[in-house]
Amino acid sequence: MALRILTVEDEPEMADLIARGLRGEGYVVDVVTNGVDAISLATDGSYDIAILDVMLPGMSGFEICRWLRRQHEGLAILMLTARDAVDDRVRGLDAGADDYLVKPFEFAELAARLRALRRRDVIGTARIDVGGLSIDMLRHEISAAGKELRVSRTEFDLLRLLASNVGRALPRTEILDSVWGSASYVDPNIVDQYISYVRRKLDAANAPVRIATTRGVGFELIPDET
Ligand code: CA
Repeated sequence: MALRILTVEDEPEMADLIARGLRGEGYVVDVVTNGVDAISLATDGSYDIAILDVMLPGMSGFEICRWLRRQHEGLAILMLTARDAVDDRVRGLDAGADDYLVKPFEFAELAARLRALRRRDVIGTARIDVGGLSIDMLRHEISAAGKELRVSRTEFDLLRLLASNVGRALPRTEILDSVWGSASYVDPNIVDQYISYVRRKLDAANAPVRIATTRGVGFELIPDET
């Protein structure tokens, strides 16, 4: 499933450049020009990334950033600062932004920053706890009931994705897209193969979670009843 980006930018040319460019990269992009519209669209929480201009009519990008951060912990937020002022960057990061980009910038740089946010797993929180399973994004470690679970990079990404979506069965295509990337051709059966690797490791560690298969839908991480 494509990542969804909310762009808040009041300069039409800049907004158009961002939206067209990011759609070309496979993102789903909505553009609004002010904070009220941004908040109204973001209320359902379906965005993965927000790109916020600082200088906006009405609410500033910082205010929108604070509001979004309170409502959606897992949202990745990139601020666009017009001035190359340390003050703006610090204010943005203090308001909860994950990164900033100083205007003017090349589109390629924006695209690279967004890829970096995805790699850093900013999309999602720094740590996810599901039952007794704990996933540390910063150190790239997983522990089950307090003991380290040794996993490969791909297994980590797979478990992180499942743990970020507890309560929902994830379709194979969504897992494939998120873990292996939509650009590369990969046999969809690889998802089942990796699910079985991870299941074996969870079993061996007596992890207090299991991966359930929902027929015709996909896979879901389920914490044990306590
Ligand atoms: Ca502006």
